[in-house]
Amino acid sequence: MKVRIWGTRGSYPVAAAEMLRYGGNTSCVEVRIGDTHIILDAGTGLRPLGYAIAKEGSDPRHFHLLITHTHWDHILGFPFFAPIYHPETHLSIYGLQRTQSSLHTIIKNAVSDPLLPISLERLSADLTFHDINHNVCLDLSQDVRVITAQVNHPYRALGYRVESVSGVLVYIPDTGPFHTVLFGDERVAWNGHAPKLSLTEMHTLSAMRESIIRLAAHADWLIYDTQFTIEQYNRFPHWGHSTPEQAMEIAIEAQVRELLLFHHDPHRADSELDVIGAEQQARAPANLRVRVAYEGMVLSRENIQ
Ligand SMILES: [Zn+2]
Ligand SMILES: [Zn+2]
Repeated sequence: MKVRIWGTRGSYPVAAAEMLRYGGNTSCVEVRIGDTHIILDAGTGLRPLGYAIAKEGSDPRHFHLLITHTHWDHILGFPFFAPIYHPETHLSIYGLQRTQSSLHTIIKNAVSDPLLPISLERLSADLTFHDINHNVCLDLSQDVRVITAQVNHPYRALGYRVESVSGVLVYIPDTGPFHTVLFGDERVAWNGHAPKLSLTEMHTLSAMRESIIRLAAHADWLIYDTQFTIEQYNRFPHWGHSTPEQAMEIAIEAQVRELLLFHHDPHRADSELDVIGAEQQARAPANLRVRVAYEGMVLSRENIQ
């Protein structure tokens, strides 16, 4: 398994001199395991990934695009992914099953006039859409398995575990913690205070947390939402993002080998991320490596010291 991070930013892409090292593109992570080619989220990092693939030039190609949820920062790169304009491309797209609209409808509406001068029907690639649920297990090949879990994020979202004999990657780019707010398909009413959780909601949250721990158990890499500082979290718990401290609790409990801080706040400069990374490394237990994810970062077992 070889993992490459193409976009690390949360909420929206940014371009600024003080953000070049960690990068300004939004969520996109590539995983290659033998012939199986997986892409986690279609944030703007998908655009440079598409160009890299086009340069390699070995078609036909089959990609599995696993989408955590369809907030803009996770789909904005889709229309700019060069392989969708190539007739030899087969793209299987997976996303959370919803009652209101299918994944196909959501993407079709986003990629159409008057938002863009293209439409899904006119793309050259062969696209198939798969509405999937949480707690499912997909065998993409003999050696590659994908498992899903629900995370705590507005309008609901998925976390993914990609596992093979050559490595285990767990990807949870957007989630709030599991104690203050339970997110669903409705907007959380917010008047400066968290609405009091019912007993049922508390049970739902704790079950969700347990399923996240199971999803991440003994992973080589856990890529996790750490958009907020503690101070930001206290102001915006209804936005559905976590802090590095909250991520580390999950990483420790799940006994992962490495935690990658991810989905960086769009205002966070490289120098601030350096400080956050150093602080979190200092407080991590000896058996947990912590790093701040950056564009171009490559993960493989050979790189684990
Ligand atoms: Zn996001
Ligand atoms: Zn989101």
